[in-house]
Amino acid sequence: MPDRPPAAPPGSATRPERAQRGARCPICGRPVVPAHRPFCSPRCRQVDLGHWLTGSYAIPGEPVGERDPDLED
Ligand SMILES: [Zn+2]
Repeated sequence: MPDRPPAAPPGSATRPERAQRGARCPICGRPVVPAHRPFCSPRCRQVDLGHWLTGSYAIPGEPVGERDPDLED
């Protein structure tokens, strides 16, 4: 089968930058810097990523490990 690279979802890369006036960093509460939104700095981005990785955030959605990939049809 042809091995095509995954196509980017339409609009994912061309979404217009929306100014978030008054937006606050969810980590430290300081004003958001557009370059790092929705955070104020790369550091806060890392902190947020750490929350995800450590399971501090619950992710509603499909339960993991319920489906056996071998049985996929
Ligand atoms: Zn911050």
